[in-house]
Amino acid sequence: MSLSGKSQIYGLLGDPVAHSLSPLMQNHAFQTHHIDAVYVPFHVLSNHLQAAVSGLRALHVAGVNVTIPHKEAILPLLDQIDSAAQLIGAVNTVVNQAGALIGYNTDASGFMRAVRQELDFKPEGRDVLLLGAGGACRAAAVTLAAAGVKSIVIANRHSSRAEKLISELIPHFISVQFAAVDYNHNDYLEVLSAADLIVNTTSVGLHGEEINFLPLEHIKGSALIYDMIYSLSETPLIKSARAMRLLCTHGLGMLAAQGEDAFFLWTGVRLPTGFMRQFLLQAKCK
Ligand code: NDP
Repeated sequence: MSLSGKSQIYGLLGDPVAHSLSPLMQNHAFQTHHIDAVYVPFHVLSNHLQAAVSGLRALHVAGVNVTIPHKEAILPLLDQIDSAAQLIGAVNTVVNQAGALIGYNTDASGFMRAVRQELDFKPEGRDVLLLGAGGACRAAAVTLAAAGVKSIVIANRHSSRAEKLISELIPHFISVQFAAVDYNHNDYLEVLSAADLIVNTTSVGLHGEEINFLPLEHIKGSALIYDMIYSLSETPLIKSARAMRLLCTHGLGMLAAQGEDAFFLWTGVRLPTGFMRQFLLQAKCK
């Protein structure tokens, strides 16, 4: 990588950031497309987020990704928020447009591209079950509702969080049937067996733990399973689902697709489909 006096700076704001695959993916894309730019991880603690955002302005940083725990906290610090990101209530990509910091959410668009491409999911008229009710769930729910699914049921450990999320979404998507369900309630197994797409948006599996609230034996054979947890090999959920011959995949494709969408927002260059996923899979083999 050779930098010049005109090199553009991009980066990632988060805590932690050391594990992130984004610097690898984005720098590969810049190099492949001969763009004079570099992407660096910025380890930003929550009490320094405001100063970090001021720093982006002062240093003319061209754009950043935002990750845990700043995706929601950064909203009031930006100049403008894209309407989908506003509805989701979270920003994972910031574009510095001539000094104005504009927030977007490419987790949502990345998720939808990944389920369409990798699982051949066609949202129109489908019944979806989302496990979890955090930021990742909000991104999935908004993009699935906008794409025309028939129903979205949200199951969460703390069911009040699922209920709150649903009450916020209902006014925006009146043609979608929303419901919250408790993992311990009888209705849960009924919803599970009817779902066309089941998405794990919880953080369970991140450290190799099994999901004990998703009894795969109740899922219909045609259902698709998406695990937002990503791995360069397999996640525990995907390992179990594959053993039962269920159609499933994990979040590496979403990670790659959200990165491709961020790259497009920053540079105007649309990477070929699967560009970053392919790169990550190759990097794993090295
Ligand atoms: P949040 O912290 O906002 O939400 C975490 C969710 O997990 C909550 O619903 C929480 O339930 C649930 N949860 C945590 N521990 C347990 C448990 N032991 N049992 C049951 N439920 C549990 O995180 P995000 O929504 O931002 O992210 C969730 C996951 O999605 C992360 O692990 C992240 O890696 C992944 N992700 C992947 C992306 C990709 O590109 N592949 C992009 C974005 C996120 P409760 O509300 O009850 O606490």
